[in-house]
Amino acid sequence: MVSGSTSVVIVGGGLSGTLAAINLLRSTAGQNISITLLNPTPAFGRGLAYGSADDHLLLNVPAGSMSAFADQSSHFTAFCQRIDVSISATTFMPRHLYGCYLEHCLSEAMAAYPGRLHLMVGEAHGVLPVADGGGFMIKLLSGQYLASTHVVLALGHQRSRFPLPLGPVEHASVIEAWDFERMSRLPSGVPLLILGTGHTAVDVLFHLERRVHPSTVWMASRRGLVPQAHRLNVVPPAASAYPAYLCEPSLRTRTIVRQVRQEVVRAAQEGCDWRDKLNELRAHTPRLWQALPLIERQRFLRHVAAFWDIHRHRLAPSAAEQLGALIKAGAVQVLAARLLEVKNTSEDRQAVKLKLRNQTSMHTLNVAAIINCTGSSTRIGPDSQPLLKQLVKDGLVVPDPCDLGLQVNDRLQVINAEGSVVQGLWYVGPMLKARDWEATAAPELRAHAQRLAENLATAIVNCSQSSLKLDIA
Ligand SMILES: Cc1cc2nc3c(=O)[nH]c(=O)nc-3n(C[C@H](O)[C@H](O)[C@H](O)COP(=O)(O)OP(=O)(O)OC[C@H]3O[C@@H](n4cnc5c(N)ncnc54)[C@H](O)[C@@H]3O)c2cc1C
Repeated sequence: MVSGSTSVVIVGGGLSGTLAAINLLRSTAGQNISITLLNPTPAFGRGLAYGSADDHLLLNVPAGSMSAFADQSSHFTAFCQRIDVSISATTFMPRHLYGCYLEHCLSEAMAAYPGRLHLMVGEAHGVLPVADGGGFMIKLLSGQYLASTHVVLALGHQRSRFPLPLGPVEHASVIEAWDFERMSRLPSGVPLLILGTGHTAVDVLFHLERRVHPSTVWMASRRGLVPQAHRLNVVPPAASAYPAYLCEPSLRTRTIVRQVRQEVVRAAQEGCDWRDKLNELRAHTPRLWQALPLIERQRFLRHVAAFWDIHRHRLAPSAAEQLGALIKAGAVQVLAARLLEVKNTSEDRQAVKLKLRNQTSMHTLNVAAIINCTGSSTRIGPDSQPLLKQLVKDGLVVPDPCDLGLQVNDRLQVINAEGSVVQGLWYVGPMLKARDWEATAAPELRAHAQRLAENLATAIVNCSQSSLKLDIA
């Protein structure tokens, strides 16, 4: 352990790690605690979502709901208004600007608590507990080791997996969703396939339309569902009590779906929009999810999740309008289909065999490139990054049986393979889906980051009080 003082290393400097660091600075004000925020690149605060420099990619949540701090709801709006006074809480701002905002929050916190937070560029490849509760050694890709009393895992999104095993030639010609640089090098006027029809796929489609001008774009996913639109003039959802129509949380997915549907129909008759009903449900989703037995969670994932996602995670109105116009003009065709085979037929062409949903026939598309937009993965397995594989191998982390992340307790402490808390090891980020289902958007993650910081600060105080008692004895 680091020479008697308490140290915290936060592994991952995306939104979750950055907000955990800022909250921890506040929660441990006046204490001699050293905090290190570790990220593979100097782009702290950006992570996967807010790193693109493309100003056309918009947040899918209005500014009024994107504050970094739950108790200062207009914080992000006020930041935007310094650039343009006409921006309001209902404006959908560029994601790039949100990355600038997070960076700004981090700099402000570092200035307010000087010398306490260290930004370090590096990638953790192992977190190894030191015997007798002596903290952890963090092994970096560079070969260096960092010692720390507490480690917060804020590793974020994992790379998406291609739905089929591919040979090396085919694999090399698939473009990953965030490789805008490679997409920009595609020739104009060629047919393209985007695998996926969610938010990432829509972002990529817009990018291609602006930069590459393809002849045709197909977008394909199992169900061929695209995200629904937000309304114009949305107001941030008010906190609401647990909805009475759901009675006690049901043990069956089917019952919950039926109750929600009936309520949406009933509310529509009173002129209430379905979006308000979903917003009302949002804060209570973890309670519903936690009550469901494993088999019912699996049922939800198989039959309902795709519908839930397109209604719950909506597009900014302007983005939905643009998507609708492209579909109407025939520039993009959305397919409900399963990918069966990919074969390179020449240096710059791929034949993609698809099975269309509810049809027996196969369909072959000839495309110049496939862009993999199947979304980030929460599955911890052989494709995961080295750190996660090591943590699982050493029994420190247990993958969720539904592949939605990892196991934590209510304080966000990691639970090990024996079902016990790993003292000093914490988690915050999208893999909280395993516990809460609703865990990927900024409004949820900022609350988790704050709670984690408060719990960690309490653990540090309790630990120093008990060592003080031991010293006195
Ligand atoms: C494209 C996209 C758009 C989104 N848009 C919105 C939106 O409009 N509104 C909204 O509310 N939410 C949105 N979200 C969701 C949400 O904001 C993200 O889920 C959020 O960015 C998660 O942040 P994170 O820090 O947990 O993960 P990430 O953003 O993935 O960041 C994790 C960081 O940890 C680093 N890291 C990983 N492993 C290691 C390691 N071993 N050592 C060191 N560092 C490591 C990574 O390099 C990365 O920088 C979006 C998500 C995506 C992907």
